[in-house]
Amino acid sequence: MNKEDVARCISLRQKAYHTNYYLESLKTVKEIKEKYPDHKPRLLLHACCAVCASWPLEFLSSIFDITVYFNNSNIYPKAEYTRRLSELKRYLSEIDPDQSIQLIVTPYDNDAYTAKLAPMKDDPEGFGRCFYCYALRMNQAYAYASEHCFDYFTTVMSISRQKDSQKMNEIGRSLSRKYPAVAYFYSDFKKANGQQRKDDLSKIHHLYRQDYCGCIYSWQSGHQKKK
Ligand code: SF4
Repeated sequence: MNKEDVARCISLRQKAYHTNYYLESLKTVKEIKEKYPDHKPRLLLHACCAVCASWPLEFLSSIFDITVYFNNSNIYPKAEYTRRLSELKRYLSEIDPDQSIQLIVTPYDNDAYTAKLAPMKDDPEGFGRCFYCYALRMNQAYAYASEHCFDYFTTVMSISRQKDSQKMNEIGRSLSRKYPAVAYFYSDFKKANGQQRKDDLSKIHHLYRQDYCGCIYSWQSGHQKKK
């Protein structure tokens, strides 16, 4: 994308009607409490790191029986991937000593993932390459949720100010048509002080906070800015 395309996209986004997905999540919670009076439905929750998962887990744990799904081959380099995963494991052990929350980790293959992103390597962060990256990971996780008969699926990524939660929820809507047995839980976790609660939980649990999103392109751009 050139600079004019980026400016046009930003302008279109600002003019677009934005759904308040936080309010949508509250409506769904109310419906769930009526539909499941005696037990919690099963939720597969895609998580990219402990920091982003912190508030969504707190918000969702009274409503759902949660399984966390960590499929983040986007993260470069491997040491960073290992660090984010180990922080997530530590966080889960601290908030859930009884291990009621299961964690599923898929095999790491950053070379294959980067090859998929490479045609969009010059896109600025927050545009086409990122939309494709959300969709890749959400699709893999949603397929797992469908194969394993979960009731709901969602991702924690809408908590990030750097990520487009409107787009993420549109992808969730589209995937819910592909995997109709599993409902998509619409969300915007950053709203209603979610962002603040995430920051507070990160401090309380001394969570490692990375300074770039994940892929090699965001890593390179972060390092160039520091020079
Ligand atoms: S910046 Fe983040 S969301 Fe965008 S492509 Fe890279 S890892 Fe994916």
